[in-house]
Amino acid sequence: MDLEEKLSILAAAAKYDASCASSGSEGRSASASKIPGASAAVGYRERAGVCHSWTGDGRCVSLLKVLYSNVCCFDCAYCVNRVSSDHPRSSFSAQELVDLTIQFYRRNYIEGLFLSSGIFADPDIVMEKLIETARKLRTEAGFGGYIHLKIIPGAGAKAIREAGLWADRLSVNIELPTGQSLQKLAPQKEGPLIFGAMGEVSETEREYQRDRKTMRSVPEFTPSGQSTQLIVGASPEDDRTIINLSGSLYRKFGLRRVYYSAFTPVGGKGPPDPRLPALAAPPVKREHRLYQADWLLRFYHFSPAEILDGNTPFLDTLIDPKAAWALRHLEFFPIEINRASYEELLRVPGIGAVSARRIVETRHTGGFGPSSSRALSFDKLRRLGVSLKRARYFITIAGAFIDQTKDAARLRNILAGLDGGLQLPLFDF
Ligand code: SF4
Repeated sequence: MDLEEKLSILAAAAKYDASCASSGSEGRSASASKIPGASAAVGYRERAGVCHSWTGDGRCVSLLKVLYSNVCCFDCAYCVNRVSSDHPRSSFSAQELVDLTIQFYRRNYIEGLFLSSGIFADPDIVMEKLIETARKLRTEAGFGGYIHLKIIPGAGAKAIREAGLWADRLSVNIELPTGQSLQKLAPQKEGPLIFGAMGEVSETEREYQRDRKTMRSVPEFTPSGQSTQLIVGASPEDDRTIINLSGSLYRKFGLRRVYYSAFTPVGGKGPPDPRLPALAAPPVKREHRLYQADWLLRFYHFSPAEILDGNTPFLDTLIDPKAAWALRHLEFFPIEINRASYEELLRVPGIGAVSARRIVETRHTGGFGPSSSRALSFDKLRRLGVSLKRARYFITIAGAFIDQTKDAARLRNILAGLDGGLQLPLFDF
């Protein structure tokens, strides 16, 4: 089989993994990584963010995303590479992957590598193949671009620790929200091994951070941290279970990201796997709302219980989770924009983290505020990036409302775009 054919098989086999992204990376050059033997840098990124490329649903597309091998002895029902699938099989060698990555990088097709694999042998042997690829890229090809390695379930602590020295990011996929679903759909995978690997990464990250405080030359360990992927809709768990799980992964293991992947039935000959639900279409709307809820966990200081309380198992598909929280807590509003704290501003639909910060800064530097005769105007708010179309129902400016609607059902329709609402006044306050 020639390389092109291998690439087409092994890139197609990797496309269902959503857990790749290079966000949060500071980047590294071969020399800056303090890796002994690392040669001159290829693909050194000056600063974070330059290699990001996202699809509409949040997936990173600027990496060469492939499997080392799609031969797998596991039988995960949702996966195209499961042992019972009749898909064509192939494997790279580490050198082939190094050559491909460098070639693609030089042609400007990619800025990094995302590498995972089917489990074709003992997990430590498979993990060593991924590590060997990354090691060769760093030390022989001098590649300083982004590398994301998948941790193979069951790989030992020694392999995980070495992988983190070559990779910017590590990830181990949790795949399903509960042990019962894992047992049913991925019977060879074990929850404790997955959490154990996450714990190993976070513990090693902490060790390196501690060492850096007392020692001069400490190598980087996964500078972009770790992430995971959860499949949504392949098992019966509700959104509350998923959000609670994500909250605890962020808390316990310091994960940078949880990626949500709407369950997509994978092709293949023969009848569909009876363990899987028969969905008319992948639940992409649900995936999107989960990403928004995740954003609230990470940047808006919401707790999982605030996003979905005991009476609400699923996110509202018509409005975003922050708007849904606001409608359940109308007693919290209106917020006086000239007085509200940053935390209060974050709770207002239509005010994002950036505009909340700008409001606080502008009040501080511009002498606006309750004790001043100057007040922020609607026009000013618009210029600070506030979406007045949404925020107008939840704020006052110098005591004045734009719209005092307290009817939660009507507000929901307006925020969902089902009701036009009132026209914004043209005058400035
Ligand atoms: S372990 Fe499961 S999810 Fe991973 S490649 Fe094998 S069948 Fe697919």
